[in-house]
Amino acid sequence: MYPVPTSLSPSRVEAFTSCPMAFRFASIEKLPEPPSPHATKGSLVHRVLELLFMQPPARRTIEAATPAFEQAVAEYLVEPEFVLLGLTEALQQAFFDDAWSLVQAYFAMEDPQSVRDIGLELRLEAQVGSLALRGIIDRLELDAEGRLVVTDYKTGRAPGLQYEQSRLAGVHFYSFLCEEVLGQRPAAIRLMYLRTGETITATPSAQSVKFITTRTAAVWKAVEKACLTEDFRPRQGALCNSCAFQAWCPAFGGDPTLAAVEAPARFRPLAAA
Ligand code: SF4
Repeated sequence: MYPVPTSLSPSRVEAFTSCPMAFRFASIEKLPEPPSPHATKGSLVHRVLELLFMQPPARRTIEAATPAFEQAVAEYLVEPEFVLLGLTEALQQAFFDDAWSLVQAYFAMEDPQSVRDIGLELRLEAQVGSLALRGIIDRLELDAEGRLVVTDYKTGRAPGLQYEQSRLAGVHFYSFLCEEVLGQRPAAIRLMYLRTGETITATPSAQSVKFITTRTAAVWKAVEKACLTEDFRPRQGALCNSCAFQAWCPAFGGDPTLAAVEAPARFRPLAAA
């Protein structure tokens, strides 16, 4: 029997529904994973935008973004998450060029001087029964009428229509957290896809919040059951191509019981380097 988690975040809910077996490796056994260039680039761009928004509105210009970008790059050059990618000089250059192009793309999507932000990288937590629901909001702001708006930056591509609803499930989770912690349901939740310049806006309602709490409770019950029965099934899909645990996945002929010893031996020397 595995210990049942006491907290859930939107990404963990999505991880369990995408593949319970990968969830077991990452979130229950907490096995190390190699860093991914995509995720590292995303967090670098988030850091640049956070530094930009720490400036007073009048100073949030593309010129001010340059020192913010340089500061973020200096921070990441010594971050294990970046160092362990082992990029050559040429690949590092391409990595930073692409990150900068995402920052520039942001400026084409909105004018940060007009944003009335009231919180950056905001950690919210609400208790639902014995379960703590947690999330980090990239940016919380007020609209022209003084209502809350949640903005989430995305550095990947916008999802196709068939995946849009599942992506929005994550943002409605934030809406639930705002309502619980701040006592006000946001008027809008915006996903800004910097790579494609698209913004998807969702309007939370009592129904969407109820859907999230019901869905999260159902996922948590399924997690609890899987922990008690030690039955985490592999679910093959697009994620398999980038799954760090494929070598121990039964769907690929692997033995999951070996992962606890072999994954740290394979990945932790990297993490400790
Ligand atoms: S390889 Fe695919 S099915 Fe197996 S654990 Fe990873 S994501 Fe799940």
